[in-house]
Amino acid sequence: MTDRVERFLLRGAPVRGEIVSLDEAWREVVARHELPPAVRDRLGELSAASLLLAATLKFDGAMVVQIHGDGPVSLFVVECLTDGSYRATVKLRDERGPIAHDASLASLVNAQDGGRFVVTLDPRGESPNRQPWQGIVPFDGHSVAEMLERYMQQSEQLPTRLWLAADERRAVGLLLQRLPDEGGTDAADDEDGWNRMQRLAETITPEELLGLAPAKVLERLFWQEALHAFDGRGVHFACNCSREKVVGMLRMLGREEVDGILAERGSVEVRCDYCNELWRFDPVDCGVVFAQAGDLAPGTATQH
Ligand SMILES: [Zn+2]
Repeated sequence: MTDRVERFLLRGAPVRGEIVSLDEAWREVVARHELPPAVRDRLGELSAASLLLAATLKFDGAMVVQIHGDGPVSLFVVECLTDGSYRATVKLRDERGPIAHDASLASLVNAQDGGRFVVTLDPRGESPNRQPWQGIVPFDGHSVAEMLERYMQQSEQLPTRLWLAADERRAVGLLLQRLPDEGGTDAADDEDGWNRMQRLAETITPEELLGLAPAKVLERLFWQEALHAFDGRGVHFACNCSREKVVGMLRMLGREEVDGILAERGSVEVRCDYCNELWRFDPVDCGVVFAQAGDLAPGTATQH
């Protein structure tokens, strides 16, 4: 089992597919967060789905998928970089009640119909002519798969199907997508290819997705089909938080605020939501932070 996204095409039909298997990369996320099982598994499904969608990005940078919730979970975030690195986090509401073992995504984030789904594309580095882009839509659907299928239909007009499963060890996802017709001559065959692939994929169970290697899943479902594997790439967990970024944050806060925290607690501690790293600054560290900033007066550090 490896951390990879594999892409394939159905020969002679406008159907493409992808399968992602997260093992070590997912366990890195699980180990860093103490989550109720249902929240953990929905985060795993969202991780797998996000990596499937990110696999087709045509720029260098990041895709960030967020669900802002009004239920027991206030925020899901999955960030995928086009270099294959990935990180994810969840914010639980303090005043939440008990969460059922099999709680659906809708019950976690859309309890009062106030959930929102946000996709951000963030080209970085050498990505000419690309502007950051953000799409925000009301939460729609029951499961992670249903939410994304409806989103893809509305935003891209591409019929897309997803099968997702996650537990404490693995997060796995299968995607099928009907590509736009190119005016080919085999429209009837094409239509059947799309329907046939969906019917075959619908026979997969979460237990099979979690228990079989990706190649075995494809073999079990599509052994009679002419699949053409054309691309694959590795995925790994990585967090890009750093002491320098926290220094920048403290400068934004301003010296007065930081001195207030120091007076109250003796040190300033910032924990990374993604990797759980604790960045600690004692009074001497904080003195250096503001001395390096040119010893600016409180608040002025935010004005450049
Ligand atoms: Zn981090």
